[in-house]
Amino acid sequence: MSFPGPPVPSRTQQLLRPVWQAWVDLVYPRLCCVCKVPVDEGWFCEGCAGELPMVEAPYCKVCGEVYEGALTREFRCMNCSGRRLEFEFAVAACHAEGAMRELIHQFKYERRLHLRGALAALMLRTLEEEPRLARENLAEWLLVPVPLHRSREAEREFNQSWELCLRLSRLTGIPAAKALLRTRETEQQAGLSRNERLKNLRGAFAVRPAGRWRAEIKLQGRRILLVDDVFTTGATTSECARVLRREGGAEKVVVITATRG
Ligand SMILES: [Zn+2]
Ligand SMILES: [Zn+2]
Repeated sequence: MSFPGPPVPSRTQQLLRPVWQAWVDLVYPRLCCVCKVPVDEGWFCEGCAGELPMVEAPYCKVCGEVYEGALTREFRCMNCSGRRLEFEFAVAACHAEGAMRELIHQFKYERRLHLRGALAALMLRTLEEEPRLARENLAEWLLVPVPLHRSREAEREFNQSWELCLRLSRLTGIPAAKALLRTRETEQQAGLSRNERLKNLRGAFAVRPAGRWRAEIKLQGRRILLVDDVFTTGATTSECARVLRREGGAEKVVVITATRG
């Protein structure tokens, strides 16, 4: 897998960075984002890093559902057999359990925005380790967030998926664009059956019309990494993928999330 990588800092930035970092560390010592012990680098102490509920193979080749037990061949799980999912496949960094569930909650509902760095770092590891992306030149791909409805975004003051996109873009150099719009509010998906979820989402997304902000971004023929914080049944991401492909002409859509519920 290849991607451009983070932008090269200018000479001045290179000179000033250690000074700046030392000052920041003095004022805000780096702490493990789970247990808050000081760490020299990264987001987690060794103990917490070792206990993160990472998603590990074998998992469903479409939706990423983990299979408990030994399995050497590819499989498709009960959740998605007999169902048309519009994305190529979905991968997640972690299970939404324990410390990860807590981090997502703090990030999303308590405005702990700095946690996007920790979540994006875990997502990057998942991208780098994904064998199905090994031959891809991700520099030609596009990071697209699952959109929130305008009123929901106004209430929360940010879109968590866009924050993850921006951070992933900064780590990898892959361009990011808010290519989708959520055109109507949808009822909460929790508690709905699979069919009800799909019905609930029909017509809820559209390709954002080209404007000043995305004059350069072309979706036609593009390969897309669709980004979200949590993957549950795949109904939302599948509907976004459908719109990106049918309306936007995207070639294919791969879903990457920080967690799966
Ligand atoms: Zn820790
Ligand atoms: Zn599956």
